[in-house]
Amino acid sequence: MSNYDVTIIGSGPGGYVAAIRCAQLGMKTALIEKYSTLGGTCLNVGCIPSKALLDSSEHYHNAVHNFKEHGIDVKDVKANIKQMIQRKNDVVAQTSNGVKFLMDKNNIDVHHGMGSFIDKNTIKVTADDGTETSISSKYIIIATGSKPNFFPGMEPDKKRIITSTEALNLQEIPKKMLVIGGGVIGLELGSVFARLGTKIEVVEFAKTIIPTMDSTLSKELTRVLKKEGFKFHLEHRVQKVENKGKGVVLTALNKKGEEVTMDADYCLVAVGRKPYTAGLGLENTGVAVNDRGQVEVNDHLQTSVSNIYAIGDVIRGSMLAHKAEEEGVYVAEILAGQKPHINYNLIPGVVYTWPEVAAVGKTEEELKAEGRTIKVGQFPIKALGRARASMDTQGVVKVIADAETDEVLGVHMIAARAADLIMEAVTAMEYRASAEDISRIYHPHPTYSEAVKEAALAATENRPLHV
Ligand code: FAD
Ligand code: NAD
Repeated sequence: MSNYDVTIIGSGPGGYVAAIRCAQLGMKTALIEKYSTLGGTCLNVGCIPSKALLDSSEHYHNAVHNFKEHGIDVKDVKANIKQMIQRKNDVVAQTSNGVKFLMDKNNIDVHHGMGSFIDKNTIKVTADDGTETSISSKYIIIATGSKPNFFPGMEPDKKRIITSTEALNLQEIPKKMLVIGGGVIGLELGSVFARLGTKIEVVEFAKTIIPTMDSTLSKELTRVLKKEGFKFHLEHRVQKVENKGKGVVLTALNKKGEEVTMDADYCLVAVGRKPYTAGLGLENTGVAVNDRGQVEVNDHLQTSVSNIYAIGDVIRGSMLAHKAEEEGVYVAEILAGQKPHINYNLIPGVVYTWPEVAAVGKTEEELKAEGRTIKVGQFPIKALGRARASMDTQGVVKVIADAETDEVLGVHMIAARAADLIMEAVTAMEYRASAEDISRIYHPHPTYSEAVKEAALAATENRPLHV
């Protein structure tokens, strides 16, 4: 039996980052991963492969639609989906190997196999060939992540009715794809295929797409994606999806309660993800799980069993890689006797469409519901010189500040490079900056960041300079 100070189950961004921080803090650390590659959902079938395909499809889209105006004549531009998938696989392999390198560098023992609790300090690891190893550990961190969710009638068969995992490996460009769910996965992967020529129809239960984000963003993104050819069926309740061999047929009820049917080559089910604890043997430990399947944790991310902690998608909160990573660092530092801090109010959210959508803090709707008196400043991207130079003129930046104190309470943007731009707002808000603070610092010209300054000017004194 091997003995460790800390053992982490799951090698996603939560688990592998927790392992590195534990090792940095001098703990003898083990990492258990059931798959042969490290990195979890994010590196293998999530963040990294989706961004690889988003970037490839964006290059193709630009070559077809924008090169000519830039003065670049290209003939016979073709999308080679097999090469795109191959490049994506190479990027995933490099990134996952990078995690393996980091484990070796930090002297972390990696055990490949399914981890299952025998009791609160002992884990059995069962490798693919059936070999069993026992691990004893003072502390254990559960970082087992999540799996795609679905509802009755839309069970993925992984052939025509697919999840993000299969969509990231399609070997053909479908003529038409139905997407159930107008959230992050539906719109990102929908964008990949729309740019390659697939007709995308989104069937969404809510009144808007990206329903949890500020309504300014959902309105603008709807407009942008419609121009890309997306069709939206909002307020539609899916009844069933059937694989008909060469395609699918979806039946839904519209908001009037009428039955509508749609057909397509594929149906992507993207209605959220659910925590994953199957086979973990939690019943042998007494670790409590709530009715949503999440491992219950207290403010220190400690489960109902004092030596067992949990982080990432398997617990409450947003299902984001950077949230999982911060929680991994947080628990490692707690175990080392430190007093770390984690701020759940300022987790940035990004949708990697083009232009990108990014936000931090509260939405206008949330602040109004709370009865806060606020000031809102907006700046259209098309008013930027930089945007015209690069032909990326769609979008808007919105800064929301407290009406009395001018403290920034939320920043919401849809703009080229918004995924990177949002970090200015995260930093400013972490230091409790006012809109005036943002408006009075240098923003390099010409950049998209000038839109953040202008929106802050609009919020603080209603005096943007360039509109
Ligand atoms: P995971 O990454 O899910 O890792 C859990 C690991 O635990 C897995 O490797 C699993 O095999 C292993 N495991 C589970 N049970 C056991 C067991 N019993 N024994 C051994 N191993 C086990 N987030 C972002 O922030 N940005 C993005 O751009 C982004 N894009 C995404 C795109 C897609 C298509 C998807 C599906 C997700 C995306 N996400 C993104 C979400 C992100 O992937 C997750 O929030 C993140 O991976 C959660 O990390 P985690 O460590 O909690 O779990
Ligand atoms: P999501 O929660 O973003 O979106 C799900 C959408 O499906 C929502 O709009 C919801 O209203 C809709 N929906 C739910 N039930 C429905 C039904 N029965 N019929 C029609 N529509 C229905 O979930 P997702 O897009 O599946 O992504 C899962 C998780 O992965 C998210 O939590 C997200 O944070 C994470 N993720 C993040 C990124 C990123 O950071 N860029 C990218 C991909 C995934």
